[in-house]
Amino acid sequence: MFNQEENIGESHAESTKIIANEIFINSNHMENVVDFKSTENSETIKVKILVKPGEKEELQHKNKFVVEININVTYIVKQIFKDGSSEGLLCREASFVVNGIEVRFEDIAPKGVDLCILSKYDTSLAGEENGLYNPNDGGSVNLINFYSPGSFITMLHEIGHALEDANRNEGEKEILRLAKDERAIMQRSEVDERNAWANALRIAKKYELPIMGDIKREMERCLEIYQKKADELGVRAKISNKKRKNDRKN
Ligand SMILES: [Zn+2]
Repeated sequence: MFNQEENIGESHAESTKIIANEIFINSNHMENVVDFKSTENSETIKVKILVKPGEKEELQHKNKFVVEININVTYIVKQIFKDGSSEGLLCREASFVVNGIEVRFEDIAPKGVDLCILSKYDTSLAGEENGLYNPNDGGSVNLINFYSPGSFITMLHEIGHALEDANRNEGEKEILRLAKDERAIMQRSEVDERNAWANALRIAKKYELPIMGDIKREMERCLEIYQKKADELGVRAKISNKKRKNDRKN
């Protein structure tokens, strides 16, 4: 997926700062704070970020929540796609403090899965989501920017996909690889979407994160989009209403 990974030496400290400012701050989120604990000479640059809701999110999310992010950056990743390229940070030992509750990426994602936050993304790959789970090369959760606390919810959802993938046996993986029929893929992906959201809710519940309502709202919004797409293709997902109800309850 990534065409290049560059190790950060002295010369990359500046690039890291430029990219970090790009992926954590935009005009609607000027209040966010990016703080470099760096170490110009070190190979790893510690970045502490405080992400606050913009005006739009304050209306959208009932519970106002802030996310403090602590990451170590050792690599800058580059992705090249047809209408441009994107740069991002490969985040190591990433931890997120959600309204005072700490969650470490490595504790909630399957072993070996990387976290990358990119400045932009090939939207044909990411679809409707602001993130993507890429199962290749050990797996990586890729997020497009992290301006808003809502990105934390996107991250939980993508980790949900990673957990689904980790549970699949080789036979199932092979079936997915070979699936060419659009309807079959859509049906599979709708089930995947529900399972990924159920996993996201499970993580939030385990840590008692005060954002269950926010996750459920985002889940309903995203599933509605998927449902519409599936309906257009005439796909009926084989999920009972009971299961749907349970997904919501969790
Ligand atoms: Zn998804």
